[in-house]
Amino acid sequence: MKLVVATRNAGKVRELDRLLGGLGLELVGLDPSVPDVVEDADTFEGNAEKKAMEVARRLGAMVVADDSGLVVDALGGAPGIFSARYAGTHGDDQANNDKLLRELEAVPDADRTARFVCALAFADPDGPLGARCHVVRGTIEGTILRAPRGDGGFGYDPLFLPLGETRTTAEMPPAEKNAISHRAEAARALGAFLTAYLEERR
Ligand code: IMP
Repeated sequence: MKLVVATRNAGKVRELDRLLGGLGLELVGLDPSVPDVVEDADTFEGNAEKKAMEVARRLGAMVVADDSGLVVDALGGAPGIFSARYAGTHGDDQANNDKLLRELEAVPDADRTARFVCALAFADPDGPLGARCHVVRGTIEGTILRAPRGDGGFGYDPLFLPLGETRTTAEMPPAEKNAISHRAEAARALGAFLTAYLEERR
């Protein structure tokens, strides 16, 4: 059975394939001909659900979609669903990190708590789920540093120090980050759901 991962990022497909291995599913990325889904919901879960449902209906397939970002307590949850375009331009990591440091300049160390959040939504319009999605959330808790450290990872990784760690997620080897990340936690929750769901669907 095929499971379409609603992303054009081959790295995300590989990571999810590794985390969901053992379910007997063939994970495939999104065909370039499938139009982009507008992410205009106001939560991570809402965006993931919208993406999963629209793509699943269009393809008549089982689909998993994700939405993720950084939630900073002292900023009332910002950048949140706007993480990729916090400073204005989509995907400008340097500008986003610079803005985050500016916004947190006056915030004392003890109050710089934050978490990465990942929502994964699974849709299967022609199966037992019908018009509903199954949505799971994974998080990783940490704090925001005052200067970047490390050049691995992407996005806000150089500023994010996971709870109980001495290295930022940009200083960890990829396999180590991928084992403790918000995406890994969400994928494990989805894997547990799918184990039972696929059995029922047969
Ligand atoms: P997306 O949902 O994968 O497109 O991620 C949205 C944005 O959240 C990214 O552009 C990053 O800015 C941020 N983000 C999500 N996950 C991570 C992570 O693991 N490390 C650093 N930044 C992340």
